[in-house]
Amino acid sequence: MSMEKKKYEYIWLDGYQPEPSIRSKIKVTEEDKPPQWGFDGSSTQQADGSSSDCILIPVAQYEGPLGADLVMCQVDTGEHETHPSNTRKACEGLVADDWWFGFEQEYFFTDIKGNPLGWQDGTPRPQGDYYCGVGANNVAGREISEAHLDLCLEAGLEVTGTNAEVALGQWEYQCLGKGLKAGDDLWVSRFLLHRVAEEFGVCVDLHPKPKSGDWNGSGMHTNFSNEEMRTNGSEKLMTSLCEKLGAVHEEGIKEYGSDNDKRLTGLHETQKITEFSYGISDRGASIRIPIYTIEHNWNGYLEDRRPASNADPYRIISHIVGTLS
Ligand code: MG
Repeated sequence: MSMEKKKYEYIWLDGYQPEPSIRSKIKVTEEDKPPQWGFDGSSTQQADGSSSDCILIPVAQYEGPLGADLVMCQVDTGEHETHPSNTRKACEGLVADDWWFGFEQEYFFTDIKGNPLGWQDGTPRPQGDYYCGVGANNVAGREISEAHLDLCLEAGLEVTGTNAEVALGQWEYQCLGKGLKAGDDLWVSRFLLHRVAEEFGVCVDLHPKPKSGDWNGSGMHTNFSNEEMRTNGSEKLMTSLCEKLGAVHEEGIKEYGSDNDKRLTGLHETQKITEFSYGISDRGASIRIPIYTIEHNWNGYLEDRRPASNADPYRIISHIVGTLS
């Protein structure tokens, strides 16, 4: 009698710069755990053609809402060493599970030519009606956003909400995770976003400023806390954490996504990329101290508003935890 065959969809990050793209392929196996696997690194900018094998190391597994179970992987070189593109590895050594991250992933849906949905007949009416808007003249892509939400929940991701954003065709969802898994979950949620949009013939644009002018860019506000912040917080603690992040602002910006200078202009609810500030309830600051934290006697979380929509969550986590631990 033959064993039952299982399908696993392996997901990994390629070697493209400045940000990696997501790759995936499906393995059919009788093994009840996804084994290590290989791929052609010369086709993903991760190896030369003369020595092209790279190794996929399964690190996290999810229920497969599209059929195959999802397997997040790290990449090793053919010599079984950590691949230079593997940003997860550094994160793994830094972050403990008492660190919680709530990512607010913003993005645009576009047609396959890169035009945001709703912009096919030219530039739409100015911003104002679109944020959390309802009505066919105020939103574009809702059916895809909601299909994505359902897939994330089926996969066991802690997506805690979604909304139409300030520009037409722009959306956001929030993804909460603990420790290293926060980074895994965000990457898997992005994978599902690209995959479900495919089925509608639509693309996902993670660029932080797809449309210049008086249009909001896309960020990935990163809410974070650790045990001390949640249970033993104080004004002194919270401001000292902000000061520490401010002292390495330039290093942080390097970790927070490319082309972020086009978004962090001081307009559209952002601080300038060359300046660092923090403030209570201040959406024009680099770091916002949320009113929740104040109302809980300085126990709670902080919101780093600097990361761009295209940032690698492993690098964000490494920067924040590396700076504050
Ligand atoms: Mg937002």
